[in-house]
Amino acid sequence: MKYDVAIIGAGPGGIFSAYEFVKKAPDLKVAVFEAGYPLEKRKCPIDGVNVKSCISCHTCAIMNGFGGAGAFSDGKYNITNDFGGTLYEYIGRDKAIELMNYVDEINMSHGGAGTKMYSTAGSEFKKLCMQNKLTLLDASVRHLGTDINYVVLENIYNELKDKVDFFFHRPVLSLEHSANTFKLVTKDGEFEAKQCIVSVGRSGSSWMENVCKELEIPTHSNRVDIGVRVELPAIIFEHLTSELYESKIVYQTEKFEDHVRTFCMNPHGAVVNENTNGIVTVNGHSYEDPEKHTDNTNFALLVSKHFSEPFKDSNGYGESIAKLSNMLGGGVIVQRFGDLERGRRSNEKRIAESTVRPTLAATPGDLSLVLPKRILDGIIEMIYALDKIAPGTANEDTLLYGVEVKFYNMEVELDNNLETRIPGLYIIGDGSGVTHSLSHASASGVFVANKIIDKLA
Ligand SMILES: Cc1cc2nc3c(=O)[nH]c(=O)nc-3n(C[C@H](O)[C@H](O)[C@H](O)COP(=O)(O)OP(=O)(O)OC[C@H]3O[C@@H](n4cnc5c(N)ncnc54)[C@H](O)[C@@H]3O)c2cc1C
Repeated sequence: MKYDVAIIGAGPGGIFSAYEFVKKAPDLKVAVFEAGYPLEKRKCPIDGVNVKSCISCHTCAIMNGFGGAGAFSDGKYNITNDFGGTLYEYIGRDKAIELMNYVDEINMSHGGAGTKMYSTAGSEFKKLCMQNKLTLLDASVRHLGTDINYVVLENIYNELKDKVDFFFHRPVLSLEHSANTFKLVTKDGEFEAKQCIVSVGRSGSSWMENVCKELEIPTHSNRVDIGVRVELPAIIFEHLTSELYESKIVYQTEKFEDHVRTFCMNPHGAVVNENTNGIVTVNGHSYEDPEKHTDNTNFALLVSKHFSEPFKDSNGYGESIAKLSNMLGGGVIVQRFGDLERGRRSNEKRIAESTVRPTLAATPGDLSLVLPKRILDGIIEMIYALDKIAPGTANEDTLLYGVEVKFYNMEVELDNNLETRIPGLYIIGDGSGVTHSLSHASASGVFVANKIIDKLA
């Protein structure tokens, strides 16, 4: 079968590319190949009763399938160039913001209307943060919530499904290029396309690395973020979350001058497992529907590690730390902040007696046996800094889950059209190393689709 455009991966990047083709160039023959299942068939077996923790399914329902890693996410679309990726370095700051707003409009017209857009503009918290050696980054945040995010994806899929050929449970095994044609090899046959968009996200990072090697596309890799997910009573952060929803706050540690930042804040949310290539780490989400709210708020505290030559395997470093927690805890470890400070492990009894009820069934343990001292010291310093703007953060019962690792795909060498050195091969979303968020990944999909439409017109 021969297509004008083949899209590999049905996460936000791939979906928004497909959407643009359907809207602006309906005559193009477009196919989407996705390793996972359609949205309605994505079901994580963890039910808290029979299956309590990750059983490493062949295809992870959380990471793979229509909607990609974002399908069961909190659906926070951050409209900003300050974090979430470096798309602006390729396409310009104004264009990046324009496309993120455009994506927001599409989400609103597909079921997202009525959800709230939060903003840091004019917030009093900027000053409060500055007075306490913290920096609040600028952003507008659309919070869809896990439930509305699902509805939006469902509506977009219904609009696309008869106009684009979707191939689910069909991982592309290899990608070949010759005579201006791309050949996609799958377990059920081969497909050809004139243009190819690769949007395989974090879960496709190893595959992406192999493709780049085989097609001799240069890559660079030097960063990984490592830390913990903090869970505390929602009331402690209520003054911040009710005004800003998500606050991205950065702190420079006194001891090492490392940067520690808050990441992915989920007011009244739940902590969840995340499985990347068999390694279990922690993440979080929350629902828009108040009936599904918990009493807790969770967010990550992450320290970025940038490596220089000769070390190249930054993700390998992060994986090794995550594997340590998997080895000691059989998955994610949870520890009370008070226990960490006292240098003792948390156990079932101490967690059960804690005033904070954990929303994830993790193994009580000792994070100091897992995290490098420098990272742990930075996190502890940051918890005390946050305690000044949100008193109670440094309470003994505050829960820390570890480890949270933010793996960065290696950065693929791309031009300003997000095209590789092979004409017609575009790499977008988190798989390119350019984006790390829903809004940036989606915007990169819109951008590249329009470049291809202009080219083929
Ligand atoms: C639990 C969780 C919560 C999150 N919450 C937020 C949030 O609130 N806000 C935010 O901005 N970001 C959030 N993120 C990150 C966000 O989901 C990603 O940045 C975004 O999904 C990236 O989009 P993408 O299209 O680049 O890749 P992905 O969403 O990862 O999609 C890639 C798709 O490609 C498929 N694929 C991989 N390899 C192949 C192959 N060889 N052949 C065919 N298909 C393949 C995968 O199955 C996957 O479906 C969250 C992530 C997780 C895991």
